[in-house]
Amino acid sequence: MTSSVTYENWNQISDSFSIEDESKGALGVLKWAYNNYSEEKIVYASSFGAEAIVLIDLIHQVKPDAHIVFLDTGLHFLETYDVIDKIQARFPTLKIEKKQPALTLDEQSAQYGSALWKRDPNQCCQIRKVIPLRETLTQKEAWISGLRREQSPTRQNTQILNKDDKFENIKICPLIHWTWDEVWSYIREKDLPYNELHDRNYPSIGCFPCTQPVSANGDSREGRWSGSSKTECGLHSS
Ligand code: SF4
Repeated sequence: MTSSVTYENWNQISDSFSIEDESKGALGVLKWAYNNYSEEKIVYASSFGAEAIVLIDLIHQVKPDAHIVFLDTGLHFLETYDVIDKIQARFPTLKIEKKQPALTLDEQSAQYGSALWKRDPNQCCQIRKVIPLRETLTQKEAWISGLRREQSPTRQNTQILNKDDKFENIKICPLIHWTWDEVWSYIREKDLPYNELHDRNYPSIGCFPCTQPVSANGDSREGRWSGSSKTECGLHSS
């Protein structure tokens, strides 16, 4: 299969190209995506947060054996690993890969000092998230992400199809128009497993050293790297 939208031809076609089924919502976008890219050329990079649960259910409807990669930093909450197991049990045909960094935590401590996330979280994210995703995406033409526009100011301009200069890929974001309430209505309606930390005021869940619960009316990403100016792990910034 030859993909119609690639990083290389983006500048020639992006103005004229639109997803035929975009108006039908996320499922239409995913049908387009799995029709446009062969299975070895597209991956969903999943955090297994609430948006991920919706996307996984939708992806499974379109591509039951889709490749899903989880960036396993070795610093995730036990509840996160638990929900991955539950999702794999619910959707046994999905190919869920836990991608680990080149350095173990001990090796990272030996090279950079202990608790790098406290002193230089950008370097820590680079080692444990960005480089592993880059390794995965060198084999791909497109990746899927669960970004929603209302999540944060830095995500407000996200499009359904994005030229991703960082990873030289096409980034597909089927949920940009979804609200938090819509995400949860979908999860409850379909009785899908989800990370139990969501019930304890963790709307956005990453590694445990860098994730805190939020206040009652807090921004959904307020608990990530709280107390620092860092707002993204580096996967979605140039
Ligand atoms: Fe390291 Fe924190 Fe980034 Fe996880 S979120 S990779 S612990 S800096």
